[in-house]
Amino acid sequence: MKLKSVAVSLASLLFAGLVGAQAYPAKPVTMIVPFAAGGPTDTVARQVASVMSKSLGQTVIVENVGGAGGTIGVGKVVTAPNDGYTILLMHIGISTAPSLYRTLKYDVTKDLEPVGLVTEVPMTMIAKNDFPAKDFKEMVSYVKANKAKVSYANAGIGSASHLCGMLFMSAIETDFLTVPYKGTAPAMTDLLGGQVDFMCDQTTNTTSQIKGNKVKAYGVTSMSRVAALPDLPTLNEAGLKGFSVGVWHGVWAPKGTAKPVVDKLVAALQAALKDDGVKAKFADLGTAPEPVARQTPDALRTHLAAEIAKWGPIIKKAGVYAD
Ligand code: ASP
Repeated sequence: MKLKSVAVSLASLLFAGLVGAQAYPAKPVTMIVPFAAGGPTDTVARQVASVMSKSLGQTVIVENVGGAGGTIGVGKVVTAPNDGYTILLMHIGISTAPSLYRTLKYDVTKDLEPVGLVTEVPMTMIAKNDFPAKDFKEMVSYVKANKAKVSYANAGIGSASHLCGMLFMSAIETDFLTVPYKGTAPAMTDLLGGQVDFMCDQTTNTTSQIKGNKVKAYGVTSMSRVAALPDLPTLNEAGLKGFSVGVWHGVWAPKGTAKPVVDKLVAALQAALKDDGVKAKFADLGTAPEPVARQTPDALRTHLAAEIAKWGPIIKKAGVYAD
């Protein structure tokens, strides 16, 4: 009798789960972006979210939760209910934070459910328009000669712009002042206004400013040139041999999100990344969707683990950390 009722309730739970997954999503889904609105990560997220909304039949609302290099926004998704109504779009910073933040309260490899990789975006080294250096060689000499007075904008410790700045400091063997923002959208505003001198940021934020001659551009961080900015040399070509940073982006859900829900998110992400409008917009912004084989939970899980292992020793050697 008792056994029978246990079996009945297990069956009803299973049924409820299936019905829940079939009904998902029954209301809007929130996509957390851990940086300010209008910046490069936000731009990628909004492109993807708009097509995901169509395939899910519910609006995917982008919510910007900036601060502490993205760790606040990621933390918000980690503690959100695992019902598929809160998801995360974050970039490479999710793999550097575990080595940089000594007091991080979550483990990104255990506390999140991967959905898939989105795009890998090159960065560009740019400066305010009246920065007194006409090419990359002059820029490096100027920064070295004026290290006490130049200021470098970034989106906080663990952000892509922080990582690029750190690698740049090490490559040119010079320290300079860094100014943290909640994202590179407000950093760009200050760069355009001349309040900060230079930054390294994704093409998804810088391409239109470079094309419009609003900023000076010195190079891209990919090993080959970017089609949207054909005249801009790679930093490798410009003299920083082997300098390469690609800002990969992924989508995650909180740990324990039911597989049928994750499957729907994967299908919606893949539909967004094969959408012609998204592809065209990405191309305008100097990037492209990840290959389909990488738009999967397994690919993202493997990539995240490899990236944490890659950046850990580099960050340890640099001796940088945050509490
Ligand atoms: N580009 C920023 C970064 O440096 C993030 C952003 O504002 O999207 O990580």
